[in-house]
Amino acid sequence: MFLFFKDVDMFTLRLILSYLLFKEAPALSGSFWHITDQHWDPTYKLTDNAELVCASSGKRPAANAGMFGDYVCDSPWHLINSSVYAMKDILPDPDFIVWTGDDTPHVPNEDLGEEKVLNIISNLTHILNQVFPNIKVYSALGNHDYHPKSQLPAASNYMYDRIAEMWQDWLEPESQETFKKGGYYTEKLLNRTGFRMLVLNTNLYYDQNKLTKGLEDPAGQFSWADQVLTEAANNKEKVYIIGHVPPGFFEKKRSKPWFTPSFNKRYMDLIQKHHSVILGQFFGHHHTDSFRMFYNSGSPISAMFLSPGVTPWKTTLPGVKDGANNPGIRVFEYDTQTLLVKDVVTYYLNLTQANAARGRWEKEYRLTESFRVPDASPASMHQVLERIAEDGCYLQKYYDFNSVSYDLTKCDSDCRVDHVCAAREVDFDMYNKCLAGAAAISGGLLPVLSVAVSLVLANR
Ligand SMILES: [Zn+2]
Ligand SMILES: [Zn+2]
Repeated sequence: MFLFFKDVDMFTLRLILSYLLFKEAPALSGSFWHITDQHWDPTYKLTDNAELVCASSGKRPAANAGMFGDYVCDSPWHLINSSVYAMKDILPDPDFIVWTGDDTPHVPNEDLGEEKVLNIISNLTHILNQVFPNIKVYSALGNHDYHPKSQLPAASNYMYDRIAEMWQDWLEPESQETFKKGGYYTEKLLNRTGFRMLVLNTNLYYDQNKLTKGLEDPAGQFSWADQVLTEAANNKEKVYIIGHVPPGFFEKKRSKPWFTPSFNKRYMDLIQKHHSVILGQFFGHHHTDSFRMFYNSGSPISAMFLSPGVTPWKTTLPGVKDGANNPGIRVFEYDTQTLLVKDVVTYYLNLTQANAARGRWEKEYRLTESFRVPDASPASMHQVLERIAEDGCYLQKYYDFNSVSYDLTKCDSDCRVDHVCAAREVDFDMYNKCLAGAAAISGGLLPVLSVAVSLVLANR
């Protein structure tokens, strides 16, 4: 019996045990955590001088600083600690954890250094390992998980080596190898035949990355991913893709993409070609709660979930108004046989309340309840987008959730266009067309055209 169990992975073991204990068919429903953008600021301290609370505020006064943080600061350790123990309280036994990076504070490069960055990654790795000792973690690098920030190389280097060592409990030997070369890896999901996790290093495609500018396929990641997904199709596998920097546009700032145009196109091509095996894409970097749709001839073929960050840090990106958020963490519920995403449950900490009284993480919303859809499949997410685009009530609900219930101001018509076009069009040209269509409508100069464009906007 013991020998038999030894060869079985933890997931299958749990299924067998549940069958033996409850004499019922094993549940088809599983769940996993997605956490991202913790951005720990070790300089955070409570002091009378509001400008000196944290280095990440960049001299902006932290007027409401408390134990759990301040909206102009990155996370104090107390917030990180509280988020990980909230995970343990809410769902102590997830099937696995997805962690999509950005561990260090928003401070100038001069304030950090290789060892400081590694030390921060090590501390965050340690707390996850300690609180979830037997849970598999799939971990992607963020643009802040390198020194200098965003300059992740397309070749082996000291930091990839050191991080691969830190994550050795989570990485299979083959994953270690590809990770050390390019910061990416793939594994069977929970060691189960027919299921796969693809962990990408999309920081190589970030337009701030000077090291990969002009390269056709940095670290050979595109051709490698193409091969992995082709083999997945041949082996009848279902795949989840995770990464940090997403393709497409930032919904809080018009015409603000992250990827270099050629890389954005190549990512689109990859999804178009392999969508039939891709059951979900999970990314971070925005710190906001949003999603992106992928279409083929008008039919939804894939959805990318952008999960909110743990850090409440108000972005300094010019043109973004009041871009802070409440700290968020998220559970995905999925069908363990098909990998279909069934639901998304977001938990959050109201930072103002937490600082005033006791910190309490609570449920913010459940996708299927709030948007009245049966699940979180591409078809359902398309329906969610249609509701947001057409119904002011749904738009406002989505907008409140976008900042994790921090910014509760009204989402006006410009705001609607920014969010709807960003969610609908990941492709640069299509996004511009979406904006142009909306402009024609609001201009009111071409009523006939505007009806046509409105139809395009509503039914794409
Ligand atoms: Zn971030
Ligand atoms: Zn980032």
